[in-house]
Amino acid sequence: MYPRTITLNDCQFKTYLFEEEIIARITMLADQLNTDYAEKRPLFLAVLNGSFMFAADLMKRIGVSCDIAFIRLSSYQDMASTGKVKEILGLTENLDGRHVVVLEDIVDTGHTVNSLLQQLQQKNPASLEVATLLLKPECLQHKIDIKYVAKAIPNDFVVGYGLDYNGLGRNLRDIYKIVS
Ligand code: 5GP
Repeated sequence: MYPRTITLNDCQFKTYLFEEEIIARITMLADQLNTDYAEKRPLFLAVLNGSFMFAADLMKRIGVSCDIAFIRLSSYQDMASTGKVKEILGLTENLDGRHVVVLEDIVDTGHTVNSLLQQLQQKNPASLEVATLLLKPECLQHKIDIKYVAKAIPNDFVVGYGLDYNGLGRNLRDIYKIVS
């Protein structure tokens, strides 16, 4: 497997994580979740659009009884987080007494997931955790405990495997990082 360089819109990206590594990491995460949520019938809440590939590959490896639902926040327009509070759209499930696991594509500053957790907490779940494909620990600006992380990465802008750059790149099977 050789790194590949691609151009999306006006930017060049180079392969950073190949599909094989992504799947291996997700498999480890699924093993952890299968252990921690045995007999708990967790409700996975996948945050669209970015988490769709992660959610699909993770769910194929979850062996415990569970529910999955999809929610949406507002879209991400450029390479910097806006920090604005986003409204949850599409949540019809009752979270009262449920063991909820939020599925995120990437946690950067943590603004998005922090605001999401605060809103979900008000719905009285029995427990509330986050499982994210990627985490940029250097960028985190909130004291939040992200219990399930497939991979921690440096502060580079990445695309592919569900993540986009101004709409492009979500379909890529590998993850690419920006060439600066
Ligand atoms: P945060 O609120 O944690 O700063 O950012 C979370 C959201 O910003 C993610 O759900 C994602 O949509 C977007 N984001 C943050 N970093 C990146 C990145 O490196 N690449 C892409 N494509 N999106 C990112």
